[in-house]
Amino acid sequence: MMQIQAVVKKYDILFIADEVICAFGRLGTMYGCDKYNIKPDLVSLAKALSSAYMPIGAVLVSPEVADVIYSQSNKLGTFSHGFTYSGHPVSCAVAIEALKIYKERNIVAQVNSVAPKFQDGIKAFSDSPIIGEIRGTGLILGTEFAANKSPNDPFPPEWGIGAYFGAQCEKHGMLVRVAGDNIMMSPPFIITPEEVDELISKYGKALKATEERVKELKSQQK
Ligand SMILES: *Cc1c(COP(=O)(O)O)cnc(C)c1O
Repeated sequence: MMQIQAVVKKYDILFIADEVICAFGRLGTMYGCDKYNIKPDLVSLAKALSSAYMPIGAVLVSPEVADVIYSQSNKLGTFSHGFTYSGHPVSCAVAIEALKIYKERNIVAQVNSVAPKFQDGIKAFSDSPIIGEIRGTGLILGTEFAANKSPNDPFPPEWGIGAYFGAQCEKHGMLVRVAGDNIMMSPPFIITPEEVDELISKYGKALKATEERVKELKSQQK
């Protein structure tokens, strides 16, 4: 990450950080950029900006970029970049309140207190024969299913391994996001250690069933 920063700086390229999911605590820092010591020129925000209680997104702009826009706006009379509901006061009020609550409840510290249990608990399944890789930090984590422990060896897409795992989780009362043979988890910031235990247990059950399913499909293949 920091290497990318040096390259874009060298070639005078703007650094846009997509913090739609990472900002406001997800990685155990207020911004993902803080965790990786990145100084972006533009930052996109949404999701936790209002804790999703109202739809709102935002773009943070560095002074260098804002100055250029501002100087041209003065020349042209206006910089027309708005939408009908840009800056809608109700969404903004909800976002301000959400940010206040994060501070009051010390949400970043809360994330840091449960994140290791979550990360270590799920990553303990890394040895599963159907998992290529488990990666994540803070309260975000992805599992990549693959044959032969290799990212270059995907399962046949028609086996629907990711979807099968997702359905097993659902059977046990847990929703995960399925994208092909990758599954993503981003539990709520207020998850308790007991709920993390429950999450790990459900993941383990779903994984076991999925391993059985792969065995079955493999035997049918021969
Ligand atoms: C959810 C998400 C998006 C999509 O944002 P929209 O506001 O729906 O366009 C973009 N980037 C990341 C990293 C996301 O998590």
